[in-house]
Amino acid sequence: MVSPLRLARPPVRRAEVADRDWYDWRWQLRNMLTSADDLARVIDLSDEERAGLAASAALFRVGITPYYASLMDPAHAACPVRLQAIPRAAEADIRDEELRDPLGEDTHNPVKAVVHKYPDRCLFLVIDRCAIYCRHCNRRRLVGGDDPPTSSEIEEGLAYIAKTRRIRDVLISGGDPLLLATGKLDYILGRLRAIPHVEIIRIGTRVPVVNPMRIDDELASVLRKHAPVYVNTHFNHAKELTPDAIAGCARLVDHGVPVGNQAVLLRGINSSVRSLRALLRACLRARIKPYYLFQGDTVIGTDHLRVPVEKAIELYGQLRGWMTGMGVPHLVIDAPGGGGKLPIGPQYIESLGEDNVVVRTYRGALVDYPQPRARDIGVAYDDVFFAGVPDDDDREGSAEFFE
Ligand SMILES: *Cc1c(COP(=O)(O)O)cnc(C)c1O
Ligand code: SF4
Repeated sequence: MVSPLRLARPPVRRAEVADRDWYDWRWQLRNMLTSADDLARVIDLSDEERAGLAASAALFRVGITPYYASLMDPAHAACPVRLQAIPRAAEADIRDEELRDPLGEDTHNPVKAVVHKYPDRCLFLVIDRCAIYCRHCNRRRLVGGDDPPTSSEIEEGLAYIAKTRRIRDVLISGGDPLLLATGKLDYILGRLRAIPHVEIIRIGTRVPVVNPMRIDDELASVLRKHAPVYVNTHFNHAKELTPDAIAGCARLVDHGVPVGNQAVLLRGINSSVRSLRALLRACLRARIKPYYLFQGDTVIGTDHLRVPVEKAIELYGQLRGWMTGMGVPHLVIDAPGGGGKLPIGPQYIESLGEDNVVVRTYRGALVDYPQPRARDIGVAYDDVFFAGVPDDDDREGSAEFFE
């Protein structure tokens, strides 16, 4: 028997929702699916998913927009959208080597909202909400909980960035910054823009993937107003590049906001050559530049989603050279503890001598690359071009947090 309570719930399936609601990004957020009961209205849950959902309350919250749920294959639990959004029982299988804070962010924060790990750039965490709670999230300790950044913590972050002159690049992240009200985002961007040493601003967001309705002309105009603002989004599978998602990204690009993609290599989700190539090509067709492909971080409850490094390198070797180079991202490991992102990949240098280098082509052939005869690489014109300009290293700024 269907309970009256269940009948009272508003519809969330695409076919039953009026366009006016479906295309309202706030409706999408208000109606996020958060439980087995909610999901059972959209798909046939597998036993593994039911077990994962039952265990998830103690692990990491569940939240899926009706839009993103509409991309789920109702019959196949191996669907990449389901695997990213619905916990499986293996999430409760926590390994000794897994960490709450795999990237050492909580020890590189001069103030609560800022992570400063590299000399010239920092993260600015302005919100703890997302429009999906990804099962592979490396910030699960911070997002979707009950400790949102306060206005005074944001002011404190702005003050740190303003006084730290070596910061040229601020990455606004969270959580998902595009869930802030447009006025609030405009305020934060405006404050950052007013800092003379901040050259570029980046926004990390999964909104184009899970709630593309959010990207309206008003938002795109605000991002444009504070140019250069770069948006980096997070598509992991070609299936996610729907007409709505493509239209959202197109609106950003048409407003002069460059869009990049940071994907995570995820076991069973995109861990095949065919799936990766399809994703990267779909991004390029949508004018989204693939930027990073991350090896999974060692975050709690994600062992089942990680790919062995030698397999990752093998997959990557099937991209470089084999498909358009514009679509090939950097494959990186973000070093546990906070060492930063390190490129990994096939070895293309067979031997490196002073006179000759033997290189390996993407097809595996060995080729000689003769070295130049002169060994001195000085640029005499630097002394003219940079005359009187202080070197980067002279800029002040909290060295202790990135060393
Ligand atoms: C990823 C990251 C950055 C940006 O790194 P890029 O390689 O410049 O994209 C900056 N700060 C922190 C803490 C990061 O994790
Ligand atoms: S959108 Fe980003 S921050 Fe939010 S859960 Fe997914 S990976 Fe984590």
